[in-house]
Amino acid sequence: MQYRKMGSLDWEVSALGFGCMRLPRRRINRMRADTKQSIRIIRRGIDLGINYIDTAYVYHLGEGEKIVGQALQDGYREKVHLVTKLFLPLVRKTEHFDRYLDAQLERLQTDYLDIYLFHALTAGSFEKVKRLGLIEKMEEARKQGRIRHIGFSFHDTFPVFKEIIDYFDWDMAQIQYNYMDIGIQATTDGLVYAYNKGIATVIMEPGKGGILANPPSEALDIMKSSGNNRTPVDWALQFLWNRPEISLVLSGMSDMRQVEENCVSADRSGIGSLSADEEEVITKLVDVYRSKILIQCTACEYCMPCPTGVNIPRNFSILNYFYAEPKWLARWMVKRGYKRLVGSEEKIDKENPNGNASLCVNCGKCLEKCPQQINIPEELVKTHAILGRGERISKHYP
Ligand code: SF4
Ligand code: SF4
Repeated sequence: MQYRKMGSLDWEVSALGFGCMRLPRRRINRMRADTKQSIRIIRRGIDLGINYIDTAYVYHLGEGEKIVGQALQDGYREKVHLVTKLFLPLVRKTEHFDRYLDAQLERLQTDYLDIYLFHALTAGSFEKVKRLGLIEKMEEARKQGRIRHIGFSFHDTFPVFKEIIDYFDWDMAQIQYNYMDIGIQATTDGLVYAYNKGIATVIMEPGKGGILANPPSEALDIMKSSGNNRTPVDWALQFLWNRPEISLVLSGMSDMRQVEENCVSADRSGIGSLSADEEEVITKLVDVYRSKILIQCTACEYCMPCPTGVNIPRNFSILNYFYAEPKWLARWMVKRGYKRLVGSEEKIDKENPNGNASLCVNCGKCLEKCPQQINIPEELVKTHAILGRGERISKHYP
């Protein structure tokens, strides 16, 4: 494992962090995490040198932190920096801060957090943070020793990011960044801005929710013709580790193979390690992807569960694959994936929501939960028109 500087903190932090948003799922109930498997892979990651664990109150329907707490027994807690987040939609009064922090410490079976983050700050939620005096609550918790450092994760634009960075003396900022997203959300400007202020920057969504891990054939051809046998995931990760401003890259790992492979990638990572030719390959990949992604969904599942059983990220992923794939046979196969989703509420599997886009009743419940600001009901209408009724993509995405 390679270790890196963590902003102004005196930490030697592993290049790879374990993001616990996509832990292995149970076979029977896909909405819930498989505790045993999750503990195995988290501990394996730590044994391979990962010393940074990221979770959140809402991951895995509230079970994520409990699983992490169990994984960190038997001496593992002392080996890692443990980070979790305050989920702001649940915080309606200032007093709620202590209620959630206490509950999170209990779930995680620890007396302190190495960093406590405001979860998914936007311009709107930052106003709430200020209105409820939550930064002061963070400082109070730090004085009490319940948390050691203060940060935030972020989903808005660069001007908002800059405003938040300038407002307080943060220890860390967690941003969405990957070779496709250099110009959206905090952007490269935000990354550099935080770095110049000595703030550690942690990267989430390095593979854009799996999109960069499963490239369309055109992108795969570019990777192959580079003469380099990197996997698509390795390309995405090395792009990030190449940059000096990045302290650590979180990967939401779901199985043992991903843990092993990502740790191997991290082993050979380094600032400035990509050659000019390799950077050129990434530029070409960006061009391909730019023309291939219709919906910027990262499959974070914050919008789930949907009351009518629509599997929102699955629908968007199928549409993206359908659009990206130039070969008719592959397109036909992708479309079959849509047909396998259910179009009738009676047949919905409540534990493994499997509804297609036609089941959306436009209730709007998912809308404010989406960090990518996708107009989910509107996009689902288009998704069903294209994949369900066979209408032309260009009619809906001119
Ligand atoms: S708007 Fe549609 S997709 Fe969103 S929660 Fe309501 S029914 Fe589900
Ligand atoms: S639609 Fe938005 S909230 Fe839902 S999975 Fe995609 S990015 Fe996440």
